[in-house]
Amino acid sequence: LPAAARRIAILGSTGSIGRQALELIERYPERFSVCALAANESVDLLAAQADRLAPKVVSCGSMAAATRVQELLGARRGASNPEIAFGDEGLMLAAAGSEADLVLAATDGLVARRAIFACVERGIDVALANKEIAVSFGEPLFAAAENSGACILPVDSEHSAVFQCLMGERRSDVRSIVLTASGGPFWELSEAEMRAATPAQALNHPTWSMGPKNTIDSATLMNKGLEVIEASRFFGLAPSAIEVVIHRQSVAHAFVIFNDGSVKSQLAAPDMRTPIGFALSYPERLENATPAQPTRDAIGLGSGPSMMTFAPVDHARFPCLRLAYRALEHGGTFPAVLSAANEEAGRAFLQGKIKFTDIARLVSDALEAHSGKSASVPEIEIADSWARSFARTSISKTCQV
Ligand code: MG
Repeated sequence: LPAAARRIAILGSTGSIGRQALELIERYPERFSVCALAANESVDLLAAQADRLAPKVVSCGSMAAATRVQELLGARRGASNPEIAFGDEGLMLAAAGSEADLVLAATDGLVARRAIFACVERGIDVALANKEIAVSFGEPLFAAAENSGACILPVDSEHSAVFQCLMGERRSDVRSIVLTASGGPFWELSEAEMRAATPAQALNHPTWSMGPKNTIDSATLMNKGLEVIEASRFFGLAPSAIEVVIHRQSVAHAFVIFNDGSVKSQLAAPDMRTPIGFALSYPERLENATPAQPTRDAIGLGSGPSMMTFAPVDHARFPCLRLAYRALEHGGTFPAVLSAANEEAGRAFLQGKIKFTDIARLVSDALEAHSGKSASVPEIEIADSWARSFARTSISKTCQV
């Protein structure tokens, strides 16, 4: 019997991950259908997506945005309009009330936190692209999945790589994992150049095309720090069993080192559509998703000689990675404080309020000032707001001098 198309709800459908997911979904109409789309304020794009994909539910960030989408869709679709909602309730409806088989969580920050928990608690599978939620709420989120039997699938390329290497393996056979980092746009800069770095420079990523928040996090290497914490949650590994190496080509996405000395890696061109496609189609793979020759060229099996390079992280110029390890080692609410302070600092840098090198200092100060609590949802929420107000106060002081 042909399997029915997998019903996908996309939270964050107008963002970088959401758009790439929709591109794949539309290429495989026999595999996928879209039951819900949720976005913040990009109403024109959201309405166009809803027009093409006919979801049951469309959710927006605000009532004004929902009204606008309603108008746009009303003009186009007439009687077959989807249910239109907004805010937290809209995200809940899109995620847990749209009969999704799989929810792609690709929103920014913590906005979809309740909706993602609702899915996981009800046993609905989640493809988790939302790093901040995995970092801040990772402990209770993965515990809830354990309870309900919901599957949380990684979308991040490194975690997808580890996940793929672990297929058919026993977790007890794993000695450690190695996540690769491109090094970001500032890998070649001196400390002095980094102090003078501008948002435009930081947004110019060498290998990956991503949203602005991820791109700033790549420039500080905090992105890799968040991924170390994320990996610990996904694969149940201690901080000491997770390493990071710089790999400028972004072709080998991670390594898994086994107790018998064998090492597995997953290689692919640096294209998010590969891990997104795998999360959507798991345990199967998409047929003819990429042409053969460009894949061979991208991983260095093309016509000429090629080399993959690996180098240690320079912790003096990139202090954020060690801060993330520190937060993971302390556990409890520390990862949430790291993530929240980093988000505030990154935004302040993009707005020209602080220097690039202030980001790490601010996050470090927040971790230093925090008295940690256990990782329960209410305690994490309190720690998150504490860290944001701590960071904002610190940013306004930095601005005045
Ligand atoms: Mg990544």
